[in-house]
Amino acid sequence: MRLTRLGMMKKNGKRTTMDHGTAKKTRSVKKVAKKTEAGLCTDQQQDVEEETTKMTYSIDSDSLECGICFLPFEDRVYMCKNGHAACGSCCVVMGRKCPSCNEPIGDIRCRPLEKVLAAMSAPCKFRASGCTETVGYTERRSHEASCPHAPCRCPFDGCTYLGLLLYNHILDEHATDAVVAMGSLRHRGITVTVHKSKPFHVVLHRGGTRVFLLLNGGDVLSGRSLSLVSVGPPPPANCELRYKIELAAVGPGQGELALSASGTVPCVRQLDVFEAKAFLFVPEAYWGSSGTVSVTVHI
Ligand SMILES: [Zn+2]
Ligand SMILES: [Zn+2]
Ligand SMILES: [Zn+2]
Ligand SMILES: [Zn+2]
Repeated sequence: MRLTRLGMMKKNGKRTTMDHGTAKKTRSVKKVAKKTEAGLCTDQQQDVEEETTKMTYSIDSDSLECGICFLPFEDRVYMCKNGHAACGSCCVVMGRKCPSCNEPIGDIRCRPLEKVLAAMSAPCKFRASGCTETVGYTERRSHEASCPHAPCRCPFDGCTYLGLLLYNHILDEHATDAVVAMGSLRHRGITVTVHKSKPFHVVLHRGGTRVFLLLNGGDVLSGRSLSLVSVGPPPPANCELRYKIELAAVGPGQGELALSASGTVPCVRQLDVFEAKAFLFVPEAYWGSSGTVSVTVHI
């Protein structure tokens, strides 16, 4: 059996380049279960030699992206009867009408392209930081989002650190700007004095590895929005990072209530692409003349 595989490696810019037109034959041995006359599989296994032809081409990555959302195609690609292609989510968003010709789209799969995409693989783009995985084209986005080797950017203005050891970097370079919890962050929590003028406060747990930021969003009318984010890889699938932030009432007799919010901690690699979807609104009156509030964080 001959199998042709397109390899792809990304270089700077959008265009992907490889040793143009080279083809390399490799031999691989695959074990397949031997079928009985009744069509059932037996425990006997037979070695079957396969010859794999690996071909490398130069390809413009635009042609592997959905023309509507400009994201790389994932495993399913659809096309209208005139052959215009779109990803599944765009078919839904466009009301199952092709934006180029108005014909219905979303029923016919573009299988030849799906087949090519399924055969393409490339090393993870975080290879330089230690990832050794070869990732299929259609899994690339989800792998890169959760790759434990993806570097994180330091959130402090003017600092250029980008790496895997952000926790250590913060302790080495920005210790005076970090609040470090000594006890259990979950049960005892830690109290942070939030300054109105500071866009975030770093919260660390002594002996931990995660960097948490208590964000102070200034984009809400007559108050501030507080939220929590972790700069780092997402936690393993079976474990959830939960948080709770609490704000004590300002003082008796003033009519203000204690405020609190809880949820799942979002994880990002860099702060500038993050937009909080949930936050605790702290009205102007809570900030007092000092421009600070005292917030207890549990994670
Ligand atoms: Zn799309
Ligand atoms: Zn069309
Ligand atoms: Zn990776
Ligand atoms: Zn830094």
